[in-house]
Amino acid sequence: MKRYPLKAALILVGLVSGFTGVLSQAKEPEAMPGEFVVKMKSQMKLQDFHEYVKHTIPDLNMIVVKRPIFETRESAIQTLSQNPNIEYVEPNYIYRASKTPDDPMLGQLWGLSNTGAEDSSGQAGVAGVDIGAEQAWDIETGNDKTLVAVIDSGIDYNNPEIQNNIWTNKAEAKGKPGIDDDKNGIIDDIHGADFSNPSHPTGDPLDGFGHGTHCAGTIGAVGNDGKGLVGVAWKTKIMAAKFLDKDGHGTLDGALMAINYATKMNAKIMNNSWGAGAYSKSLLEVITRAHKANALFVAAAGNESKDNDSNDPTVIPAYPASYNLPNILSVAAVDNTGKLASFSNYGRTKVHVAAPGVNIVSITNQSYESLSGTSMATPHVTGVAVLLAAHFPNMKNTQIRNRIISTAKAAPALNKKILSGGIANAYTALMNISPTPDMNNPTYWNSKDVNYSTPHPYADNSTFETLIQVPGAKEISIYFAKFTTEPEASSKR
Ligand code: CA
Repeated sequence: MKRYPLKAALILVGLVSGFTGVLSQAKEPEAMPGEFVVKMKSQMKLQDFHEYVKHTIPDLNMIVVKRPIFETRESAIQTLSQNPNIEYVEPNYIYRASKTPDDPMLGQLWGLSNTGAEDSSGQAGVAGVDIGAEQAWDIETGNDKTLVAVIDSGIDYNNPEIQNNIWTNKAEAKGKPGIDDDKNGIIDDIHGADFSNPSHPTGDPLDGFGHGTHCAGTIGAVGNDGKGLVGVAWKTKIMAAKFLDKDGHGTLDGALMAINYATKMNAKIMNNSWGAGAYSKSLLEVITRAHKANALFVAAAGNESKDNDSNDPTVIPAYPASYNLPNILSVAAVDNTGKLASFSNYGRTKVHVAAPGVNIVSITNQSYESLSGTSMATPHVTGVAVLLAAHFPNMKNTQIRNRIISTAKAAPALNKKILSGGIANAYTALMNISPTPDMNNPTYWNSKDVNYSTPHPYADNSTFETLIQVPGAKEISIYFAKFTTEPEASSKR
């Protein structure tokens, strides 16, 4: 057993208390009372662990334990961390579907093709503010080889709008009922799995909330079938990895299991329209595993109108969207005029592209509904990724991600707000066209800091000149951020 010298331990305590001092201004991120996700070192055996174990996640070498609920989070973590066979401990955070409720009504799918018509709330659109689906469909409408996981509240997989694009796990569909035919740990997981009760996962991911179905409809409602809706992709295979319950709530352990399931079953693209403000090491770890399996992780930037890049320690960026991982594509929401949605989070490095996310019509359980949120923007981008993956089957997850970012269509309202400054576009992504921004709009101009000061003190009535050169520039505008002259010579300083 490795023991740390006392001195080092004392320094660590000092650091920890200093850290919480800063964070105490922010609300402690929500977590299941008394529950902790524990990452074990590989050599640890469960029988050596004297805690109340709620359940285990053997694939990830993790266990979820229950501690007395009157204990503070800090002291529970400290106690658990004393076990040298434990790598780390964190609260079992609670996540929520990133949607804001809206008036249910059928309207136009302006996100796919915006003609300038009104959206479901009556707001007039700006033609062309969409993801370019109509142009893209001349090139690619999807195929049945691209497996996309909707990590959410499940899917109404019998809904006629989506039914033919739902993934089927053949081993289970042809297997024996009540038997885990493919030995992946879940019995009868024919269309996906349900981890909303992480201690008792099941093979039935039917949607109890409607949110996952809404996302699935935007990604891949069956196209060209003469029925109501069409998705960004007309054809794809959608798997339901459910962990949000009938109220749209889920916990860290459920999220870990859902992402792990999707990774194990080889989902190429994962739609994550959920999140909260809590950094979790285990969540980072499971998304890293998804990256190693070449899966793209499309995630909602969040609905708190905040800057995910903020330096203010009281502003916790939205997770999982804000992890610095090469397979995460974080999505902000715009309305039908191309403006950043009032609720949408943003961030110059941590939020990558925007997509339609205000008054988006799609399916829910047994009906249609218009909803708003970065939740609704995310499946538009997932749909673009599905089209790319179908068209370029050898593209890596990071290549898909970078292609979507580099070909996003510039929108002035997004300039310097998010990494790409634009709206994801299926057509430019398929064609690999990097749109050139409107050069008449100064917000797109490159800026360069220039410092110039005259020799001083200077003689009365003297003239100084300097030449500012910007190679390649057609026009230059100069903005004086600071302009000072020497005070009169009474004080020589
Ligand atoms: Ca199974």
